[in-house]
Amino acid sequence: MLPSAQKPSTFGIDGRRQEETLLSFRYLDDGMPAGELTPLQKRFARQVAHKLSTGQYALEHVPCAVCGGQELSLLAAKDRYGLPVSTQICRTCGLIQTNPRMDQAAYQEFYNQEYRPLYEGALQPTPRALELQYARGRALRDYVRRFLLRPPEQTWILEVGCGAGGVIQAFREVGFQVQGIDLGADYVEYGRSHWGLDLRVATVHDVEPEPRPHIVLYSHVAEHLLDIRAEFRRVRRLLAPDGLLVVETPGLYHLPVVYQGDFLRYLQNAHTYTFSLRTLRNILEPLGFQLLSGTEMVRAVFVPVDVPSGSGFTSDYARARAFLQEMELQHLLVEGWRRLVASPMEAAQYLARVTEAFPRSYLAHHLLALALERADRRKRARQIRARARRLIPAR
Ligand SMILES: [Zn+2]
Repeated sequence: MLPSAQKPSTFGIDGRRQEETLLSFRYLDDGMPAGELTPLQKRFARQVAHKLSTGQYALEHVPCAVCGGQELSLLAAKDRYGLPVSTQICRTCGLIQTNPRMDQAAYQEFYNQEYRPLYEGALQPTPRALELQYARGRALRDYVRRFLLRPPEQTWILEVGCGAGGVIQAFREVGFQVQGIDLGADYVEYGRSHWGLDLRVATVHDVEPEPRPHIVLYSHVAEHLLDIRAEFRRVRRLLAPDGLLVVETPGLYHLPVVYQGDFLRYLQNAHTYTFSLRTLRNILEPLGFQLLSGTEMVRAVFVPVDVPSGSGFTSDYARARAFLQEMELQHLLVEGWRRLVASPMEAAQYLARVTEAFPRSYLAHHLLALALERADRRKRARQIRARARRLIPAR
């Protein structure tokens, strides 16, 4: 169990106790990870928890990046590693965000020291991680090709947050002109020597690519950004007038497919945001981008437009909240059923908590009754066996 860090305030702005808005009892800040951690992961999780609890990693409250509002409701008080992380949903626009979150200095140190061993379970770039990145690049390349205005040889791509460059390598090998930037010096160096790619240690604010890129790529990076509006405002200026902004990010409505319906297994303190296609549009449209094509994976292509389609947004709150609650209930029911098969008594205790959290779930009540019935039957069977042993004298 990890030491608890600076706790989020107990009361939300709407006056409800924050614990009451948690998706379920699984999201309390109790230091327990969602699954088994390796010894290396445990060591680094303890290190992060220590830095949080001593204030070495400072936290900051930020207004919602879409609506500027501060009416948030707490979905989870810990992440998959058992670290104290406040995942909140904006009640006005539905953007899911970590708030409060570590400040920039804390994240910088975290990415240098703890992120890779925690997330990938390794201290150095691994061939397996590179293979996955490259595979993701090939899939993305096949998707992006249908939107091209010019042949690959004349198409300049800038990838932001390229890591070791596996994604742009997939583009380069079919002729695209590619360049990558990332803050991880080790990864940039690895990609340069391993693939001979044009990679630099930089942010989007440090570069002036010439010619202006026809495609700017964000593959599993947008969910890590701090000042997301400044980031994409800058991209809008860099991008060629007929260019494309391509964003891939874990989609809220796609999580059941990737994380077996377990929101807790998805959560990690490196994620500052979790998007749906709607909330991503809410960020990008006021900055002068228009959606050309997109899926809830999320994988989306935006084009720059001169007149932003208004500074307004369409709230995703009701849909996102209902979706998360339904996903959580399904997860709890499956888990209850699994426990019922193994140990009816333990399952009954678990399902009692599920019925308390979701009092209107018929299936939860039904499974609880079934667990109690089985537990009772097992108890009676044990009593009968004990009586039989007393009646039949031992030889
Ligand atoms: Zn908002």
